[in-house]
Amino acid sequence: MASETVQLTGDSAGTRRSLVCHRFGSPGAAPRVYLQAGLHADEMPGILILQHLLPLLAAARVTGEVLVVPFANPLGLSQWAFQRPLGRIEAETLSNFNRGWPELAALCGDALEGRLGPDPAANLATIRKAFRDAVAGLPANSALQEWRRALLGWSCDADYVLDLHCDHFAVMHLYASPARPADTALLCRAVGAELALIQDVSGGNAFDEAHTVPWLRLRERFGDRFPVPDGCFSTTLEYRGQFDVDDGTAAADARNLMTFLAAIGAVTGWPDAPAHPDAPRLPLGGAAEVFAPQGGVVTWAVAPGAKVAEGQILAHVTDPETGSRAPVPAPVSGLMFRRELWPSCLRGQSLAHVAGSTVVRTGHLLSD
Ligand SMILES: [Zn+2]
Repeated sequence: MASETVQLTGDSAGTRRSLVCHRFGSPGAAPRVYLQAGLHADEMPGILILQHLLPLLAAARVTGEVLVVPFANPLGLSQWAFQRPLGRIEAETLSNFNRGWPELAALCGDALEGRLGPDPAANLATIRKAFRDAVAGLPANSALQEWRRALLGWSCDADYVLDLHCDHFAVMHLYASPARPADTALLCRAVGAELALIQDVSGGNAFDEAHTVPWLRLRERFGDRFPVPDGCFSTTLEYRGQFDVDDGTAAADARNLMTFLAAIGAVTGWPDAPAHPDAPRLPLGGAAEVFAPQGGVVTWAVAPGAKVAEGQILAHVTDPETGSRAPVPAPVSGLMFRRELWPSCLRGQSLAHVAGSTVVRTGHLLSD
C-alpha cells in the first residue's frame, strides 16, 4: 500500500487541512477503482466501513488498482455549530458539498476535436487523459476548489467510482446511471442494496454523475463520428441512516465491498461471490416526496423498508398549539426507503420518499 497526502491551504491565515488517499495494487492496473466516504462530512457509516476495508485490502491480492480516500471531507468534518456536526453544506458559501462538481466534458470537449478515432479503447485512453488535464487545470483559489481538484484528480480516470454516503433513516440503497446496468445489478447483489434509483442526469452535478455524465455528453457530441464508451461506472451508496454505525455492520459491509471488488476483477482469491437478492431498479423520478401538512411533531406509522399503498398513512404531524393531528398519506404505491432525521418539522418540509415505478418528478431530482 502506498499513501499520498494532499495539503489543502486554509482560507483563513495559519490553517490547513490534509486529505489522504491509500493506493493498493499496481499503478495503471485495471480495473482502477476509487472509493471514498464522508463527502458530506457528517456521515459516519461509510467512513467506518472504509476503516474495516483497508486491512482487508492490505491482506488481499489486488490485481487491479484500488484507491481509497477514507474521509473525503476534512473541510466539512470541522464544521460544528450549536453543538452539532453540520455536514452536507459548506458554511461559507452555503453550497452542498455534493453538488456543483465540474462538468469535465464541457471542459475538455473542444480539446478532443481531431483526437478521437475508430478504436473505442484508444478513445477511452484519450478521453481519460483529457479528463486528467482538465482537472489539473481547474482553479484552486479557495480551499473548496483545492479540495474538488484533489478528489477529482484521484477519481476522474477510474473505471469504477464508489461514493459512500448515508441518509437520515433509510434502508441500504444506491443511485446509479442507466449506462452500465450489469454493474449496477452486480453491486446490488454484492452489497445487499434493497433499491437502486436510476437516472442519467439528475441535475446539480453530484460527485457520482461527474464521472458518468461526461461520457454521455461526449457521446452526444462525437458519437455519430467515433465510438465513445461508458468509461466509468459510478454510484452513490447510501449506507442506511445516520445512526447505523457499529463495527459489526461496518465489517460486514466492508466484506461485501471486497466481494464486489473480486467480482469485477480488482481482487483475486476472495472467497465470496455476490449472494444478496436482486434489488429493484427504479427511476429516480419515481421516488415521490412526502411533505409535512403542518408544522409540529412527526410520529411515524411505518418504518423505512415498508412497502406502502398509495393513500396509506405513513405518519401524523401534530400541531402542539391546536392539538390537530394531520395524517401524511403515501403519494404513490412503492417502497418507503427513507425518512427525515428530526421528529419536529416545519410546514411544507420534505419528510420522506416513496420509490414507485412510475415517473412523477422531472427536472432537478436531487434534494438540496
Ligand atoms: Zn451524503
